[in-house]
Amino acid sequence: MNAEQHESGSWYWEVGSEQCPHGPEPDYDTQPEAWDIWIDRHTGSPQDVRICLDAPAGEACLQCSEDDGEMVPWESCRIREHARPKQGVVPNPGAEHQPVTVLVGTLECLDRECDEYFGDDGDEIPDMESCSHIREEQACSCQRQDDGEYSNDPCPARSLSVTGGTA
Ligand SMILES: [Zn+2]
Ligand SMILES: [Zn+2]
Ligand SMILES: [Zn+2]
Ligand SMILES: [Zn+2]
Repeated sequence: MNAEQHESGSWYWEVGSEQCPHGPEPDYDTQPEAWDIWIDRHTGSPQDVRICLDAPAGEACLQCSEDDGEMVPWESCRIREHARPKQGVVPNPGAEHQPVTVLVGTLECLDRECDEYFGDDGDEIPDMESCSHIREEQACSCQRQDDGEYSNDPCPARSLSVTGGTA
């Protein structure tokens, strides 16, 4: 059992990084107003660095990032499950809510890196389609994200048919 909670959260670049538009910390004694503004946009973080709220770095997995001591993008979370379309499955772009078969599993399994893909001699088993950790699910084409993976946001068309059904 893995009790760790993997959640996404926003990460920001550090103060003084290229992405921070504010420049160095003003001197509080000579420029108290500038300092107020500066400190207002720069806050502490769990990593003990001051971060710039105007320099978002994107969504990160908070737990993986903490483990690694650096930002791990949410897409790269080792624990989070990803839903990728089964090979060759491309929804018809014209259809708004079309069922799509997706493979759901961790990146390690989807990228054919988990132990099951390798035989006792350490060689990759060539004709194994997917390991047993991966399950097939039905997603809806509207859940497709820009990166080609499927989110688990509820599909508006499906929730309608569930609540509206009498069965
Ligand atoms: Zn800044
Ligand atoms: Zn994670
Ligand atoms: Zn849908
Ligand atoms: Zn696996």
